[in-house]
Amino acid sequence: MPEAKGAGAGEKPAKTATYDIVIVGAGFAGMYMLHKMRGMGLSAHVYEAGSGVGGTWFWNRYPGARVDVESQEYSYSFSPELEEDWHWSERYAAQPELLKYANHVADRFDLRRDISFNTRITAASYDDHTGLWRIITDHGETITARFCVMATGCLSAAKTPDIPGAGSFTGLTLSTATWPTEGVDLSGKRVGIIGTGSSGIQTITTIAPDVGELYVFQRTPNFSVPAHNHPLDPAVREDWLANRETYRQQQRTSGVGILAVSPREGSALEVSPEEREREFEARWAKGGFCLGAAFQDVGTDRAANDLLVDFVANKIRGIVKDPDTAEKLIPATYPYGAKRVVVDTGYFEVYNQDNVHLIDLNETPIETITPTGIRTREGDYELDVLIYAIGFDAMTGALDRIDIRGRDGQRLSEKWNAGPVTYLGLMVAGFPNMFLVTGPGSPSVLSNMLMSIEQHVEWISDCLRDLGERQVTTIEATPEAEAEWVAHVNEVAAGTLYLQANSWYLGANVPGKPRVFMPYVGGAGTYREKCDAVAANDYEGFRLSRSETR
Ligand code: NAP
Repeated sequence: MPEAKGAGAGEKPAKTATYDIVIVGAGFAGMYMLHKMRGMGLSAHVYEAGSGVGGTWFWNRYPGARVDVESQEYSYSFSPELEEDWHWSERYAAQPELLKYANHVADRFDLRRDISFNTRITAASYDDHTGLWRIITDHGETITARFCVMATGCLSAAKTPDIPGAGSFTGLTLSTATWPTEGVDLSGKRVGIIGTGSSGIQTITTIAPDVGELYVFQRTPNFSVPAHNHPLDPAVREDWLANRETYRQQQRTSGVGILAVSPREGSALEVSPEEREREFEARWAKGGFCLGAAFQDVGTDRAANDLLVDFVANKIRGIVKDPDTAEKLIPATYPYGAKRVVVDTGYFEVYNQDNVHLIDLNETPIETITPTGIRTREGDYELDVLIYAIGFDAMTGALDRIDIRGRDGQRLSEKWNAGPVTYLGLMVAGFPNMFLVTGPGSPSVLSNMLMSIEQHVEWISDCLRDLGERQVTTIEATPEAEAEWVAHVNEVAAGTLYLQANSWYLGANVPGKPRVFMPYVGGAGTYREKCDAVAANDYEGFRLSRSETR
């Protein structure tokens, strides 16, 4: 694990400071935003709660943490030299390598001198009179800036356990989202893990061979497909570099920005069973997300989707030797892909190990966490270590945790009481000069995040350049454009199967959170065109103005 070089070395600003732009978060979004702002000669400063760069890959250090998009696709494209110099070692990079990459980028572009680490933004409010944002840190500093960019991440606000007795456990309690930097020795231990999303599945698969006993507490089984991870073939790298312009362009115009997904036209219902099986098999053998793109209607037609559900169910039955365990691992209550599909390395296989035990919480719900383990309706599980892999308050959680106030002191959390509303996932009416990177209402988590981050950062940068040249000081989404966009986001989602699962895309994993489909599912390429057209059309749907104070 590379130590975050220079962590905390970013010079602390004075008790008050003024910048053109404040950026919240030093993940891939905040880092690139800073680089772009500097290039434009604007004064910019980043505030980051962690002690180093990398965002998601800084925090999520659990065993087996690994990206689920091909490494070369999940990397910055803005610098050809960076692409040429960096060597990914595996098809899907693991967290230490991703963190090393983030640190390499920070070094290469000398980013740390404008980042304050170990500093959390607690509040940000817009001053109607001055047209400036006033931003407060947890060290009591006040920063003033005309523009504020929330690069706070979509999956950065980890949920805290709301299970009775949580906190009473006297053994070691761990969370995948805040795994200790120094690692943990679990060998020979009795370990319980709650949660079987991507974080849980990657953890389970990685620790199963080392722990004494592993008890997996599963509420909802997940669809999981093999990654078929392997050392990156030098030929893949050479091909990527030789054709990078073409490939990058293909990513940008595609549906999700991942070329390996290779969507196939046509209906699953209109081919012969043999051809369908061949296609599913080929994609299972290839690994990763491509299985869900086997046919065009898998994401929109339940009958087509059911065919894929059956295929995966049979795969699970073929891998897991105990038929009862296999049936419990098969997702049967929602369509394939409606919850985020997990990309795994031998997940179902671990249930063939004698030391791995699946506890189906639908049959035997957890009654309470006890000082010595977990009590289900059926009995007590004595544990040395309890791991929570229970997910995130996605897309809005990180913003909700900051007291953000726009015009007339309106709170963002109140405005979003019935679910997030934005124009293009980029701005919110009533919150002038505040940009969101991969905010709700943009493709974000339904796309290659690196690509979507770059698209937003570049759109925002171009916008700020245009505003500067025209001496415009304020940009704000109009309520009409926002309402229209939200209606469009909902309409597109309604045409898919996404609404048929209780997913974090819908906020359904957080009790009390409004059930609203948050990302834009209309396609990353289409979305990019829309953003570009808006800018070309004099920022249609935004109000531009010049304030008195400049
Ligand atoms: P997640 O997908 O939301 O999974 C959380 C798990 O915890 C679910 O199985 C959930 O069950 C369970 N859970 C939550 N509260 C519970 C409770 N009170 N009792 C019992 N079970 C409970 O979270 P995640 O695994 O952290 O993944 C979130 C997202 O992060 C992923 O979907 C992915 O987009 C991203 N991610 C990506 C990677 C990667 O690229 N490889 C790795 C990790 C995460 P229910 O389903 O019943 O709610």
